Amino acid sequence: MKKHLCLLLAVFLALPLFCSCEKNVYPLSSTEFMMDTVITVTVYDGEADALDSAMTLCKQYENLFSRTIETSDIARINNSNGAPVTVDPETAELLKIALDIAEKSDGAFDPTVLPLVELWNVTKSTAPPEQNLITEGLKSVGYKSIHINGDTVTAKNGVKLDLGGIAKGYITDKVVENLKQKKVTSAIINLGGNLYLLGDKKGEPFSVGIQKPFGKQDEHSAVLMLKNKTAVTSGVYQRYFRHDGQLYHHIIDPKTGHPSDSGLYAVTVIADSSSLADGLSTACLILGPEKATALAKEYNAELIMITSDNQLITTDGIKYDTKNGETVLNLK
Ligand code: AMP
Ligand code: MG
Repeated sequence: MKKHLCLLLAVFLALPLFCSCEKNVYPLSSTEFMMDTVITVTVYDGEADALDSAMTLCKQYENLFSRTIETSDIARINNSNGAPVTVDPETAELLKIALDIAEKSDGAFDPTVLPLVELWNVTKSTAPPEQNLITEGLKSVGYKSIHINGDTVTAKNGVKLDLGGIAKGYITDKVVENLKQKKVTSAIINLGGNLYLLGDKKGEPFSVGIQKPFGKQDEHSAVLMLKNKTAVTSGVYQRYFRHDGQLYHHIIDPKTGHPSDSGLYAVTVIADSSSLADGLSTACLILGPEKATALAKEYNAELIMITSDNQLITTDGIKYDTKNGETVLNLK
C-alpha cells in the first residue's frame, strides 16, 4: 500500500513537469514555399494548432486562386472561352475587390493584364518583346470584360485573369481572421513581403524595415512602426531583368503595355485591409506620386513611396522621427 502511495505521489509530482514540456514556447513560427513565394507566420500566443491551421488555409486559397493550378477557379475562368463559370463565393468576393480597385485606379490595376505579364515574362526573359506583340497583347486586356453575377463569373472578349497583384493580400486577411479565432492576439503574417502586424509585441508596435530598392537585403530606406495594420510593398526591384542598361520589371502599365515608368521604384501601402493594400500597392506604383496619393485618400490608406532617385515621399498620415541615424516612420 505504502509503495502504491509513493508511486502515486511520484506521478503526481511529475505531472506539472510533463505538462510544462507539452506547453508551447512562444514565439512559434512556420515557413513554407507557396504561391511562388515564401510564407512565414509567427505567433506570440494562442492555441497550439494556430500555425498549422494558417498554413492549411493558405494552401486552400492557393488552390482556388492560382492560375497555374488547372482545377482552380481562376484557371477554370481562363479556360472557359467566355462561358459563365460558377466559382467559390470567396473567389467572387476577391474579384469584386479587384474590379473596384481597377475602376478607382482608372485601370492602372487591371487583373486581366495576363497576356502582357506572360509576354514580358520578366523572371525568364533577357530582352523585351517586339512592340507588335505588345500591341497585340493589349487588345485582350480590359477588366470591364469581367462580369460577376452572384457566384457566376464571365470573362468576355478573350480576357484572362492574373490575381498575382492582389491574391496574397486577400489570403493575408483571411489568415488574420483565422488566427484571431484561434485566440492569437500577437502575430506577424508575412506572405512574400505582404505583411500584417496583428496586435503588438509586448505593448510596443512591431518594426518593419522598408527595403531600399536594389540595396542589400537588410538595407532599409526607413523603419516603420506598426500594429494591427497591414503593410504591403510593390517594388520594381522584386522581379526584373536588364537589357542594354534598361530596367524591365514585373508591374505592367495596362495603358502602354510596358513595365511602369512613373518615377517610383517602390510603394508601401499601410491600411486595415491587406487585400486593398495589395491591389493599391500595384496600382500606386504605376500611377506615380500624385495620382497615387489621391487614390490612397479614397481608400483611407497611407503610402510610403520611394522614387527612382531614392527620395522618400509619404502621405499626410505619416510622421517622421530619427533613431540611431535611421528614419523612423509612425502613423500620426
Ligand atoms: P505586386 O507585387 O502586388 O505589385 O504584384 C505584381 C504582380 O501583379 C505581377 O507579378 C503580375 O502578376 C501582376 N500585375 C502586373 N501588372 C499588373 C497590373 N497593372 N494590374 C494588376 N496586376 C498586375
Ligand atoms: Mg499588389
